Amino acid sequence: MSNAEFRRFGHELIDWIADYFDRVEDLPVLAAIEPGDLKAELPATPPQHGEPMEQIIADVDRLIVPALTHWSHPSFFAYFATSTSGPGIFGEMLSAAFDNKSMLWRTSPASTELEEVSLDWLRQMMGLDPGMIGIIYDTASVSSMHAIAAAREGVEQRIREEGMSGRPDLPLLRVYVSEHAHSSIEKAVITLGLGQRALRKIPTDSEFRMDAKALAAAIEEDKRNGYLPFCIVATVGTTSTSSIDPVREIIPIGEEHAMWLHVDAAYAGSAAIVPELRHILAGCERADSLVTNPHKWLFTPFDLSVLYCRHMDLLKRAFSLVPEYLRTPEQEKVRSGSDYGIQLGRRFRALKLWMVIRYFGHEGLAARIREHCRLASLFASWVEESADWELLAPHPLALVCFRACPKGHGDLDALNEAIMHGVNSSGQALLSHTRLNDKLTLRLSIGNIRTTEKHVRDVWELMNEFLRRTK
Ligand code: PLP
Repeated sequence: MSNAEFRRFGHELIDWIADYFDRVEDLPVLAAIEPGDLKAELPATPPQHGEPMEQIIADVDRLIVPALTHWSHPSFFAYFATSTSGPGIFGEMLSAAFDNKSMLWRTSPASTELEEVSLDWLRQMMGLDPGMIGIIYDTASVSSMHAIAAAREGVEQRIREEGMSGRPDLPLLRVYVSEHAHSSIEKAVITLGLGQRALRKIPTDSEFRMDAKALAAAIEEDKRNGYLPFCIVATVGTTSTSSIDPVREIIPIGEEHAMWLHVDAAYAGSAAIVPELRHILAGCERADSLVTNPHKWLFTPFDLSVLYCRHMDLLKRAFSLVPEYLRTPEQEKVRSGSDYGIQLGRRFRALKLWMVIRYFGHEGLAARIREHCRLASLFASWVEESADWELLAPHPLALVCFRACPKGHGDLDALNEAIMHGVNSSGQALLSHTRLNDKLTLRLSIGNIRTTEKHVRDVWELMNEFLRRTK
């Protein structure tokens, strides 16, 4: 592609993206297609000859856009609603242009040093202490996997050198999570070869928070059985309800048994930048590691997850392997990202985060998160005031768990499923669900930068409309 052609289509594409943001609200949030529809439209074999850019962009409009679920739609309330932002997109563009592989300091000094600086800014904004050093991975699943690997390295069982299989000398290593922890922790345990039986799920209280007494008892019991408890994963902002495990109560339990405490704040960590919400991380000043995802609630395009870790030496011991062809004269003085994980090459992700933080500023980011929490509380107040609806969990942040419960209606699971299906297939908004105390529970998550009170009112009316129709 000549520079002239790049310039022309680059301008056109920026216009295209701006137009997309103007019209996204008119598009169906959930892709209105059936499985296989897109594949049927695409040639099964690659083009032999290059095709004109005009045609490729036209096919984005014709084929790709209808097959998208629009996470940028302001009425996307499903899962954890997230959104990209202008400065974040520009960061991605520049990163693609630079195409740096920042495995060593010298292969991208800018990426290495900008990562250190922007993660330290984020640490300060979240009120974490300076002992927490940040490193970027793609997703929270991968961040948590690395944290547990570092914790395992800390048990001094020579697992890096000798592995875990065929070792009668190795006791069963145990990781503790609440029954509401994200499945990524179980996947990490599987990936690290600890096996699913290494994961012990601790019951939660009536507000879906880990029961610290049950945790202490489980660890004692495991020790009596000769197991080796080595890691607790507390969740600040669980996926189903955004409940917050009592980290302050969990900390002394972990410390008593010299265990690693990892905090999964993938969703909620961003909220700690709001001064009046900083308390959600109470106790985390004594955690060994913590993951937070700017790609969830900090207006940074997917993907960018941050692991803060107090023991970078253990993370490095678990993963560093420097072959001759990667040795550099400065290696003792600088940080090389590839020393801290399974990847060699790493994307220049820090650029987009740096641009987002600079463009909005701490206050601008906090104001948006604060507004999302206000909208969620407003929605929750409508649920509470209505005789036809009920809240099914506390809403400490910007996620509301609720259901329709009109008097005299028999099968409430079926009713709520029908309401959700009605809303989602209308294309006007998108909700998701979970199951709490064996009740099908609707979830409304607010996290999109374009969501306003009007969008929240509209989905409330839409849900009531479907409720009236099913009554
Ligand atoms: N942890 C929690 C609490 C989550 O809610 C999620 C996803 O929603 C994850 C981890 C996994 O995030 P990722 O997609 O970045 O791996």
